[in-house]
Amino acid sequence: MPFLYRWRVMLSPIFSVVCGIGCIETFTVSSRVGMCSLNFIMSTMFFLYRPSRKVFASVLLLLLGFGLCACTDNKSGRISVAVTIPPLQNWAEQLAGGRVDIVCAVPDGGNPESYDLPPSAMVGLSKCRLYFSCGYLGFERSWLGKLSENNPRLQVVDLSEGLELLYGTHHHEEGHLHDGEAYPDPHIWCSPRLARRMVETMYRALTEIDPDGASVYAENYARIDRRFAQLDSVLTDKLRPFKGKVFAVYHPTLSYWAADYGLRQLALEPDGKSPSPQYLRAMVDSARHVGVEVVFIQQEFDPRQAETFAREVGCRTEIINPLAYTWSEEIMRIADAFIR
Ligand SMILES: [Zn+2]
Repeated sequence: MPFLYRWRVMLSPIFSVVCGIGCIETFTVSSRVGMCSLNFIMSTMFFLYRPSRKVFASVLLLLLGFGLCACTDNKSGRISVAVTIPPLQNWAEQLAGGRVDIVCAVPDGGNPESYDLPPSAMVGLSKCRLYFSCGYLGFERSWLGKLSENNPRLQVVDLSEGLELLYGTHHHEEGHLHDGEAYPDPHIWCSPRLARRMVETMYRALTEIDPDGASVYAENYARIDRRFAQLDSVLTDKLRPFKGKVFAVYHPTLSYWAADYGLRQLALEPDGKSPSPQYLRAMVDSARHVGVEVVFIQQEFDPRQAETFAREVGCRTEIINPLAYTWSEEIMRIADAFIR
């Protein structure tokens, strides 16, 4: 066996190893093994065949490129997953238990119905493989298409799919979908019951994209679902005596939450714009009529009109943040603020 021939044969395992290192953690075990074997077979066949120098050089370059691509594509070697708002970030982090990186598109304090993505945030989002969306938030409607265009391998999972959505509780300027279908209320995450279904969808999607972590996800999912079920049952007990009661809220974020516990929501900003004095007047009248005792104000909105409303009605104001990262605490706090 001539020296060059033996030297060439030695190259095939080296290529396989290079390729294998590149694939670590980014692909599943089976695809890693598959890629390495394929590379091994290809390089062994080529080196045994003893081609001309030209063919040898070009195939050598090709294999090198293949190995290098695998290396550079996965610098951190971790899967990144994007979500729209901090509560979903919290759920995804609990589910993932550190196995994947979670990127939140709309930061704390941002309004997910009007938020504009800064160019710097595009970089982080373009690395993501999965995107968990609420389905109908203004931010998602204006940005998800662009994100998918920039990043064709991004898989968007609409967490509202299959849920019973509410219509007529939340109107914006873009109030109708293209086919004339009414625009659903997007605040599904405020309902602990819907939250359980959303987390289940997240769990399935994570398991699909990272089957190696299936047992971690399953264990975390079971724990979160138990916790959310418990939250729901505590809220059901707490709010039972108040069934049929009406509360006011600046932006109609709590439609699903109210529906879960038999409460009614009176929104001061029903069309996504600040209310006219006439509209506010009419709201004050109906609030007095039905005995509203509290008006909730989301922390990202100007509180002045809601404060005027509260003075006129003679009810108290409570600042809430349904977009809080600490979701379950906030949902409980809203119930306590309602009862107080
Ligand atoms: Zn809204």
